[in-house]
Amino acid sequence: MSKLSIRDLPLNSNRIFMRVDFNVPLEDGRVMDDTRIRETLPTIEYALRHGARLILASHLGRPKGKPNPKMSLKTVAERLRMLLDKELARGENVGFCPDCVGIEAEEMAGKLEKGQALLLENLRFHPEEEANDEKFSQQLASLADYYVNDAFGTAHRAHASTVGITKFVQKSAAGLLMEKELQYLGQAMQHPEEPFIAILGGAKASDKIDVIQNLLPKVHSFMIGGAMAYTFLKAQGVAVGKSRVEDDKLHLARQILDDAKQRGVKFLLPVDHVVADGISANATIRAVPRGQPIPAGMMGLDIGPQTIEEYSEEIVRARTIVWNGPMGVFEISAFSKGTFKIAQAVAENAAAISIVGGGDSVAAVHAAGVADKITHISTGGGASLEFLEGKKLPGVEALTDKK
Ligand code: AMP
Repeated sequence: MSKLSIRDLPLNSNRIFMRVDFNVPLEDGRVMDDTRIRETLPTIEYALRHGARLILASHLGRPKGKPNPKMSLKTVAERLRMLLDKELARGENVGFCPDCVGIEAEEMAGKLEKGQALLLENLRFHPEEEANDEKFSQQLASLADYYVNDAFGTAHRAHASTVGITKFVQKSAAGLLMEKELQYLGQAMQHPEEPFIAILGGAKASDKIDVIQNLLPKVHSFMIGGAMAYTFLKAQGVAVGKSRVEDDKLHLARQILDDAKQRGVKFLLPVDHVVADGISANATIRAVPRGQPIPAGMMGLDIGPQTIEEYSEEIVRARTIVWNGPMGVFEISAFSKGTFKIAQAVAENAAAISIVGGGDSVAAVHAAGVADKITHISTGGGASLEFLEGKKLPGVEALTDKK
């Protein structure tokens, strides 16, 4: 990696401002899923073990620039204390400051001892955070000597705590989680073990077109599922009934299909389907076998068994697999088989580096019980998609270059 890592910083006795992603689901003031907190524990633990005075900051939800007790990080501080307590016996060392800037934050940050941590209140309670405001960035920076970004999930946003702050600290480095994300995604994009395949699905072709275009010169094959497949199928003249199609993207879809053909890249589309008259568990459901048109009143909601087989054969041969987006409406069990079977096929290929990103595909590998067999599950849906699009992530660009 060309950017500094937390391992390159002099942590001992120094005040470290660490941007983390504690954007966890809360219900009635309780943390419902602490995966995001756990993901960044190794970085927190590393900093504390090396004697840092650690200042943690995150956003939570969309408070729109105003304090909102329902989106307070106070509960998160309690959960973090519990987790650190269990893993480190240092739980008592996590303080909480009811604001992320101002006199109290300065005092609390100033009083931190070596190996102690302080969690600041939700950054987005201030509109200046998302505006990447210079003065606010300076205020955040004034709390610390060095900056660490471990929040890959917000690295595609240029905010005060991800970009602005880096101008006002001595050095800015990637945390361990950030480093891991960049390492896996970077390797897939730059030096993938071959064959390299991309499995793309989800609601809209338009969301994934930039990814397809960026990956076209790099991959051996694409496997397309989800609603986005129907835009490509219609572009080929296949009858898709009332499946979800983006008609304004048909031309672009044709161009992509031509481009793939010219480059010798396989562009696999579903050959059979599970269809229904509506997106509902009570809908009338049918299987449409290979070669048959989807009837006019029906929509494709999952890939069929033949497609699962064809995609799985391709997956077995791959050595690098990138997957983003479900193969069907997997939230409804009648249309979930394609997504789960693909999750299993990806997981079963132990010889491949498999990278899964995007909330739904990540949920699918967990629901299929195969998450532990995936090489890397990305913590950033939007950020990983932008990475695959070949875009530079502002939160990564802002970190200090090595050497
Ligand atoms: P995305 O956010 O782009 O990854 O899309 C995920 C959503 O796409 C999920 O909520 C799925 O239910 C939905 N989806 C997947 N396949 C289809 C389909 N064939 N028709 C309609 N919606 C779909």
